[in-house]
Amino acid sequence: MALTLFNTLGRELQPFKPLNAGKVGFYGCGPTVYNYAHIGNLRAYVLHDVLVRTLRRRGLGVTHVMNITDVGHLAGDNDEGDDKMVRSAEERGKSVLEVADFYTRAFFKDIGRMNISMPTVVCKATEHIPEMIALITRIEEGGFTYVAGGNLYFDITKFPAYGELARLRLEDLKAGARTGVDENKRNPHDFVLWFTKSKFENQVLVWDSPWGRGYPGWHIECSAMSIKYLGETIDIHAGGMDHVPIHHTNEIAQSEAATGKHPWVHYWIHNEFLVLDKGKMSKSAGGFLTLQSLVDAGYDPLDYRYFLLGGHYRSQLQFSYQSLDGARNARKSLLDRIKALADKAGGLPDFEGSDAPGGTASLPVSLIEGKAGDYRNAFDKALDDDLATPRALAELWGLLRDSSVPAAAALSVAFEMDRILGLNLAEEVERQRAPGEGNNGANRDLIDEIEALIAERAAAKKVKDFAQADGIRHTLKERGIILEDGPRGTSWRQG
Ligand code: AMP
Ligand code: ZN
Repeated sequence: MALTLFNTLGRELQPFKPLNAGKVGFYGCGPTVYNYAHIGNLRAYVLHDVLVRTLRRRGLGVTHVMNITDVGHLAGDNDEGDDKMVRSAEERGKSVLEVADFYTRAFFKDIGRMNISMPTVVCKATEHIPEMIALITRIEEGGFTYVAGGNLYFDITKFPAYGELARLRLEDLKAGARTGVDENKRNPHDFVLWFTKSKFENQVLVWDSPWGRGYPGWHIECSAMSIKYLGETIDIHAGGMDHVPIHHTNEIAQSEAATGKHPWVHYWIHNEFLVLDKGKMSKSAGGFLTLQSLVDAGYDPLDYRYFLLGGHYRSQLQFSYQSLDGARNARKSLLDRIKALADKAGGLPDFEGSDAPGGTASLPVSLIEGKAGDYRNAFDKALDDDLATPRALAELWGLLRDSSVPAAAALSVAFEMDRILGLNLAEEVERQRAPGEGNNGANRDLIDEIEALIAERAAAKKVKDFAQADGIRHTLKERGIILEDGPRGTSWRQG
């Protein structure tokens, strides 16, 4: 069976065929860095990670691009409300860039702790203003825009395919409610490409443009950066369900209006929401849970990863501490079972870290046949079936519980499965079996801290913030930790 994915465009399961043999261009909408990521946001990034790891296991080279939104995102995705970054900076008495910098680092710390692989390219909106201006110019030249009240708008009536992704009907859109809508808009669903008339007197991040000094609308960054790093058509674009009717709908309109290419994105993948008992979790409404709040309550970030894998990405997942306890216990039993198998097999088999490598490398598949091979094939089949992680987890459990599978074979296949699940099974068991060994004698808290700093440094390097990256290396050196960069990432030792 080939990998099939549920494509929001068409609302059906479709076999995945890359545009270029052996390669996949994937764009996943990244965070708006005005606050910490909440645990719902992390659901989206775990899905992106599982998708990338699955594609790589199928031998495909994946270029994964993630944006960092540090300008232009207003409280309402449809240009209404305050600028999220400006509001957050005001509340905290910091500059917008300080806020962006702080929460970008916090985000990558969470990504590292959740064992989410780093994207191939991480790109900040504020560093791609020329690309956005160039793209808006192409859209304008095609006759899709108008200027009103000092802002440049996209005119959705000029783009007949508008709303296809979300199955919006143009007639309904024209008649759409106007309450609270920017009065410059000819149609309530038109959207801003470039603001020159800032709603906020203290808008500090502004740039010169053909339309005057100002700043970009939110949606244009994803079109501009995806075209820059992945070309004018791409294989897969992902984000949360909330992005279907506005953000992704507008991204499509902009990109296709500029390039004339249809479809711009071949597969649209959307995750359902993580919900609390009380309903939706949102950053702007406050009262949300962060990964750190789970850590402070005594959970390991990988307990939360396990919890997320237990739900299919297209179903709503209800968060409760009771369910998280269930995930924690299950992960502990998993590690205990592996320890028992390792004792039986006389040790752990050689393994390479379960992190999917960056760039275009594919993951090797072992030659193990027989019963263990059957579990591995069933595991792969589950992922081929629209990334059915709950079934994949069940196959892992089946394998580990099946006493007719030789211990060594069970362990090899379990670690192979973990290259997709990303639960760091081998590393965790090794750590528990020989505390101090293999970790340079450091304790778990210190190791976590060092690993988080290494993840932060990798993130800083991705966004070419070499001063920050060198600063982290220096800070660790002062504490006697030496970093060594190699082809498989950064390792460390006590020097
Ligand atoms: P933001 O940082 O608000 O731009 O959102 C980052 C990503 O998280 C987007 O793909 C959102 O669609 C997604 N998202 C937001 N809230 C949730 C939630 N409660 N559950 C799952 N995904 C979410
Ligand atoms: Zn986006």
